[in-house]
Amino acid sequence: MVPKVAGSSPVAHPSELASVAELADALDLGSSVFGRGGSSPPSRTTFPAVMSEARYSRQQRLAQIGPDGQQALGAATVAVIGLGALGSVGADLLARAGVGRLLLLDRDVVETSNLQRQVLYTEADALAVRPKAEAAAERLAQVNSEIKLEPFAVDLTAANIHQLLADVDLILDGTDNFATRYLLNDYAVAKRKPYVYAGVVSTHGMLGTIVPGGPCLRCTWPEPPDASTTPTCRSAGVLGPAVAVIAGWAAAEALKILAGKISEVAAGFRYLDVWSGQMQFLHASKDPTCQCCGQADYAWLYGQQGAAAAQVLCSGDAVQLPGLGAGVNLEIVAQKLRGTVTDLHCSARFLRFRAEELDVLIFLDGHILVRGTGDVARARSVVAETVGA
Ligand SMILES: [Zn+2]
Repeated sequence: MVPKVAGSSPVAHPSELASVAELADALDLGSSVFGRGGSSPPSRTTFPAVMSEARYSRQQRLAQIGPDGQQALGAATVAVIGLGALGSVGADLLARAGVGRLLLLDRDVVETSNLQRQVLYTEADALAVRPKAEAAAERLAQVNSEIKLEPFAVDLTAANIHQLLADVDLILDGTDNFATRYLLNDYAVAKRKPYVYAGVVSTHGMLGTIVPGGPCLRCTWPEPPDASTTPTCRSAGVLGPAVAVIAGWAAAEALKILAGKISEVAAGFRYLDVWSGQMQFLHASKDPTCQCCGQADYAWLYGQQGAAAAQVLCSGDAVQLPGLGAGVNLEIVAQKLRGTVTDLHCSARFLRFRAEELDVLIFLDGHILVRGTGDVARARSVVAETVGA
């Protein structure tokens, strides 16, 4: 269970005081602003105004959107967290729909194995090992030059979420791990921002929309699932169209809220398997004892839970992550990883494997050591992709 944290409340955290620009400067993220009001990537040309009027004509004809809804979309800021498969599709749809400002956050770089489903990227991006945030912003600026695109090649954590997401109207989830999702859920509830949750693996996925005052992720799942037994895209594979369907649905939820129709959001989670056609709706109700939305105990947001506890070892080339928790069954984790990583070795005391040129060790108490890098974001990325923690 999440420990009760004395004194935690939705008041401003000291780290909220800096602006996004200040944070970007301080972290030297290499972040730049594309699109309206920002500096332009070299290949962009000015878009004729007459085409601008036509751009949203089909969308505005929808009774659900209309001219007022379109205007609201143009005035909105959305943060897309994670620019893998879900984030690629979601960001693309929101950019095309005319959401005025998109913050694009991802800690990873483009790889060849991404191209099957991560629709914003090209072979050239993979060859150049480009940060996804940068490649995504450049691609989206070609799609819609009238919106503002702000890429952040950054690992979203409890330490920087306040600065990065301070002025967003909605959070769209494109992540691949529950530590970040629970952080987003805590932040969204504490700051009363809508949060569209989505996740896909194999041929199926789930999405749910968390709105201020409604049930949150932790009302239904107080704790994240056991990452040691949860399949990942690496261990179980993933079907591109499954991602497209779930991400498309999530984008529709985002547009609904941004267009002012938040009252039409259904509280609950949709499950869909695009291969079998099986579909379920899991109703969610607000739990007054929920530590997050019921008791304002934001353990993931204020660093007592999750990735914030990651630390670089003093040698500088290894990162320790809190990982899976005590009682992890190493043999089950090894079974999941078999065939997807190299040098896999499981003993009674620890499990070891190699992935992305890094050595990963998982110990019986659940903590994880990633050797070969001093970069926490890279270590977390490899562990998220392989183990799913
Ligand atoms: Zn809750």
